[in-house]
Amino acid sequence: MSISKKINSHVCVIGSGVGGLAAAARLAARGMQVSVFEKNDAYGGKVSPIRTNGYLWGFGASLFTLPELLDELFVSCRQSPSDYYSYTQIDPICRYFFPDGTIINAFAQPDLFAAEVASKTGEPSAHILSFLKEAERKYELTKDIFLFHSLHKFSTYTNRKAVHSLFNLSSLGILKKMNAVNENYFSDARIVQLFNRYATYNGSNPYVAPSTLNVIAHLEYNKGAYYLQGGMPALTQTLYQLCLNMGVKFKFNAMVNAIHITDNRVTGINVGNTNYAADVVVSNMDIVYTYRNLMPELPEPKRFLAGEKSSSAIIFYWGIKHTFSNLELHNILFSGNYKAEFDCITNKKIVYDDPTIYIYISSKMDKAHAPEGCENWFVMVNAPHDCGQDWSQIITEARKNILKKLKIEAGLDIESLISCEIVNHPGTIQEKTLSHLGALYGNSSNTILSAFLRHPNFSQSIKGLYFSGGSVHPGGGVPLCLLSAKIVDELVD
Ligand SMILES: Cc1cc2nc3c(=O)[nH]c(=O)nc-3n(C[C@H](O)[C@H](O)[C@H](O)COP(=O)(O)OP(=O)(O)OC[C@H]3O[C@@H](n4cnc5c(N)ncnc54)[C@H](O)[C@@H]3O)c2cc1C
Repeated sequence: MSISKKINSHVCVIGSGVGGLAAAARLAARGMQVSVFEKNDAYGGKVSPIRTNGYLWGFGASLFTLPELLDELFVSCRQSPSDYYSYTQIDPICRYFFPDGTIINAFAQPDLFAAEVASKTGEPSAHILSFLKEAERKYELTKDIFLFHSLHKFSTYTNRKAVHSLFNLSSLGILKKMNAVNENYFSDARIVQLFNRYATYNGSNPYVAPSTLNVIAHLEYNKGAYYLQGGMPALTQTLYQLCLNMGVKFKFNAMVNAIHITDNRVTGINVGNTNYAADVVVSNMDIVYTYRNLMPELPEPKRFLAGEKSSSAIIFYWGIKHTFSNLELHNILFSGNYKAEFDCITNKKIVYDDPTIYIYISSKMDKAHAPEGCENWFVMVNAPHDCGQDWSQIITEARKNILKKLKIEAGLDIESLISCEIVNHPGTIQEKTLSHLGALYGNSSNTILSAFLRHPNFSQSIKGLYFSGGSVHPGGGVPLCLLSAKIVDELVD
């Protein structure tokens, strides 16, 4: 038997990931009564803390870019960001280790980075600087249409800036592949690999993805990479606090089972035995499961749901009984054969045996994240999304290959220093966050039409139904999830 409750709230938000929290805060700041329903016992989704034995890691996101989007959210809620959080620009942004022993520090200042590249590889500094300038030009040209507004509203295309962008779209290199453009640009294969890496920031493959993804390098090198004090879990903590201060109500351990629709208009949601009435529903849940699990009676918008899913990851959260002065906050050990690695991920749906390894150590910035004399290593390798692979066998192999590569290529013999270990993989990512197939970023951006094949932030057939988060427009990653919430806020009447 179900009970019907008309709670004070007229807005129900499903899920408390970055996109759900940000949308809830914005709508509540406008005076709406907002309730967030979260299936887990705490907020955060892919940006939540993992704690054991005195160590703290973030579940997923580690790199923080475009902090001005976070600031803008707080200001739009009439709050002062400095009352809630602080961040600092990091330098170097990342330390890159190549199989031939080359180490490149990606310094925060583009000219220093370019000089470092030139001295380590012979690639002329001018190539790096002009590449970053071009990335900036493309970002400025595309951001208003592809990121900051709904792609699916006529009004996005009618202002002067948009018209200018549309006239210049042909200069974006949409039809060219990222790797092809980068090979053309740089003479040194290591630098091609370094810039190809940015395709993975939205779970794509640089050998098939359009070269427009080169704009991501602009965000890191020209606009800067940041560390949020407290690490990425502090992001959702601060968003949660903002929500509370805006009057948002939370229900945890509350799995939403259905979105109720009458006469093509949302009327509420169902959680267990209880129905909650609402005029507006914002789903921060993965778009595929929103349709399949919560509105199975509606026809699926196939062109948005059927797209190839982004890649996923295997993450080892290692407590390390030692500190390493030769590692930075962000570190990458590159695969000896990047093309073969992406062939494994995209086509063979396996993890390559010489994987690119990402090591993130937030205790370099926040000593409290590891016991004295220890470090909290977040070690990630790219993996395909879940297609029913035997993950326990893949994890055993990946662990062996990672430890071997760290020892041989970086002199990091750490196996005996691992004091505790937690592992996540596409299966557990799906379980924890209900992300379809455990993909990190919803659909991949491997085709030129990808941007148009992400679900809009509103339903085209159901009034009052909106979507925020990494599986819808403008895409995955913390900054884009914040933007999805901003767009939802603009769309809700
Ligand atoms: C390993 C990894 C590394 C990453 N690295 C970075 C990075 O360095 N930088 C970056 O910017 N981004 C990174 N990302 C991506 C970024 O973390 C995500 O894009 C972003 O956090 C997704 O937020 P979201 O709003 O889509 O919600 P999600 O985090 O997907 O959360 C959705 C929430 O909805 C809840 N939910 C789902 N279904 C229901 C239901 N039926 N009822 C109630 N609740 C429900 C889930 O429990 C979850 O809490 C990474 C992600 C991962 C996993």
